[in-house]
Amino acid sequence: MPNTNSHRLYQLIPRMIVSAPHLILFGLLTALAPVFSSGQETEAFDTCTDGLTRQAIEAGVSRPVAEQVMAQAEYLDRVIELDRRQPEFTTTFADYLNRRVNESRISQGRELLQQHRALLARVTRETGVPPAYLLAFWGLETNFGSYFGKMSVPSSLATLACDERRSDYFTGELIAALRIVDEGAIAVEQMEGSWAGAMGHVQFMPSVFLRYAVDADGDGKRDLWNSLDDALMSAGNFLSNLGWNGDYRWGREVLLPANFDYALADGRKRPLREWRKLGIKDAFGHAVASDDIQAGLVVPSGHEGPAFLAYHNFNVIMGWNRSEFYAIAVGHLADRIAGAGGLQNPPPEDAPTLSRSDILALQTALNARDFDTGNPDGILGPATRAAIRQYQSKQGLIADGYPGADVFQTLEITLKSDG
Ligand code: CA
Repeated sequence: MPNTNSHRLYQLIPRMIVSAPHLILFGLLTALAPVFSSGQETEAFDTCTDGLTRQAIEAGVSRPVAEQVMAQAEYLDRVIELDRRQPEFTTTFADYLNRRVNESRISQGRELLQQHRALLARVTRETGVPPAYLLAFWGLETNFGSYFGKMSVPSSLATLACDERRSDYFTGELIAALRIVDEGAIAVEQMEGSWAGAMGHVQFMPSVFLRYAVDADGDGKRDLWNSLDDALMSAGNFLSNLGWNGDYRWGREVLLPANFDYALADGRKRPLREWRKLGIKDAFGHAVASDDIQAGLVVPSGHEGPAFLAYHNFNVIMGWNRSEFYAIAVGHLADRIAGAGGLQNPPPEDAPTLSRSDILALQTALNARDFDTGNPDGILGPATRAAIRQYQSKQGLIADGYPGADVFQTLEITLKSDG
């Protein structure tokens, strides 16, 4: 970031000049920024935290805790830097999965499954979530408790609450964090987490902590940092409340027949018996069951990679983290920890890594040909995927909604990473 000072000022000041139109204010402050001293910045942050302290007390946080914690909260430039970070390149599914589900994590997960057998069995009994899934979340969130994040949660959240972009959301999370200190779950100096405020073994945001964390070891505290009993029971409790169905798995890898119509891989759920009629087989080559379970077809790296049928619990996992890649990684890691082998069709590792400008060029080209991607933003969202699918269909390409080399070639776009 070239100019931290100006960056910081126009986030803090508009909160105090509420009536000014943002665009004018933005220009004005950018022009004025260099003349503000760091003393004025501190003052702006202090004014903001004073307001937050009052809000917290009004919301029921005890005055001594609110005042003491907020007096220690510091503005963290690094948090804003991380919040504004926009990756230049998209992550391919192969890259995402291989980083998270690898041999060392699988074998560690299998060892921990034995080591914590009694605790895991108890969590399963009380929440309905099987041991391997609990380990998969734990493994993905903090590599089984090896990394919680080192940021002061009150400081991170105060910084984000005093920033314009998502002030309301982070104000709510900050107040939730203060309530957690207030209830005595953790000393404020030990309340560390990710830059965005996710905490402990399973990286709960404070609002999730307040609603779903439980004291499983009976010491009277909900401690998700130092008590694995509390952390795993809380994870199970959260998943149970998100609607986890203990009778079914998350989904499974499937094999698609030749000439399969990829237009069906649009996330829409259909009963298994319909997928069976379409010739879909499980990873061992057996026809999928003929019943009414609803499942959606997911092809995270297009027709050249693996295909999955995603059941209800897949959506539950996305309630924890709204990412299809994440949900597949949790499900697959759980399967591997429970003893399954690797994917029959591993994702292709040579898939092009697309830059934002590649995707922007793609969106612009599709819009110009009346395949509506919405407002071009350089991000591969559902509207862009739908437009790609329509375009592929018209061109006689495999309509998987995935921007492969053929799509870019026929649109005459040269990929940035190639050129
Ligand atoms: Ca406890």
